Amino acid sequence: MNTPSHQAYVPFVSVDNMLKLVLHLGVERVLIDLAAEIEADFHRWPLFDKTPRVASHSDVGVIELMPTSDGETYGFKYVNGHPSNMKQGLQTVTAFGLLADVATGYPVLLSEMTILTALRTAATSAMAAKWLAPAGSTVMALIGNGAQSEFQALGFKAICGITEVRLYDIDPEATAKCAANLAGRGLKVVSCGSPEDAILGAQIITTVTADKQYATILTDNMVGSGVHINAVGGDCPGKTELHKDILLRASIFVEYPEQTRIEGEIQQLAPDHPVIELWQVMNGQAKGRTDAREITLFDSVGFAVEDFSALRYVRSKLAETGLFTQLDMIADPDDPRDLFGMILRAG
Ligand code: NAD
Repeated sequence: MNTPSHQAYVPFVSVDNMLKLVLHLGVERVLIDLAAEIEADFHRWPLFDKTPRVASHSDVGVIELMPTSDGETYGFKYVNGHPSNMKQGLQTVTAFGLLADVATGYPVLLSEMTILTALRTAATSAMAAKWLAPAGSTVMALIGNGAQSEFQALGFKAICGITEVRLYDIDPEATAKCAANLAGRGLKVVSCGSPEDAILGAQIITTVTADKQYATILTDNMVGSGVHINAVGGDCPGKTELHKDILLRASIFVEYPEQTRIEGEIQQLAPDHPVIELWQVMNGQAKGRTDAREITLFDSVGFAVEDFSALRYVRSKLAETGLFTQLDMIADPDDPRDLFGMILRAG
């Protein structure tokens, strides 16, 4: 019988449920788990469908789609980057994402990803630093104290053993917010009045500022030998954070070169400037840090595989936590050819 049923419900993780999930599991637990998921996917990097993200630029920002597939599951993220949003009380970055079953094409998860992006970015940064930063690093400078910053600090604490973060932002209110949010979390937090002060004694420098221009958050003379730089904020054409001379002194590690050459710090360099793919370091096909005096740079732009890993992680927690609702998103009549009949029967 042709009933009007349409039972292809899609699990949906709202912002509210994402917050509950993170609180239920604990932020640092989630960051550690995500780093493990992302690392596992980097180990099977060659089997993913990969493409630079599809970006739609405007004068004030960018809207991007980030798709990938491992042959069984397909995923994409919708994400924006609008540095001027903050002045209107809006987020610079917002996102949501979807997983689908490759065998049927049916969606199997829809999730908020504004919070999840901050978590996965921090997990990826710390995962990269685990491979590249000087052994025994304990102090990190954190330049740019906006939405991503606390996640970065806690990711490096949980995954790399950082014990001290030195904060700097051109806006002291952002630094005060970050310091307050990090209080009582087992980190020594030092608020600094200049980037020079922030990098004092730091083995790791994270830059996570937002400005749609070629900015110079770090100049060449600020970066001593042996440090690891985690450059997160420069992630679209015309938007960078580091002086070019730093890049020329550094060993540069990237997620997906085809995307990073368009969006990362290395857009400042010749298109054939050598870079090392992070997945190859993890698989033993390329070397990470080879010298205590070497400057290593993770030119992070955020790649679709990291979002895929993060969505898959969230999906794996649904049954255990029940933190989702069912979304009536797919029209799925019992007789697949009678789509029009669904309208008639609904009347
Ligand atoms: P945000 O707007 O919340 O915070 C940015 C902070 O940078 C603000 O507090 C601002 O005052 C500060 N800032 C701007 N110019 C500065 C300067 N010259 N020196 C010091 N501080 C400065 O943005 P957010 O959500 O924290 O994101 C930060 C950046 O990270 C954005 O550019 C975003 O696109 C990027 N991002 C990258 C990834 C990735 O995977 N690589 C992921 C998420 C976000």
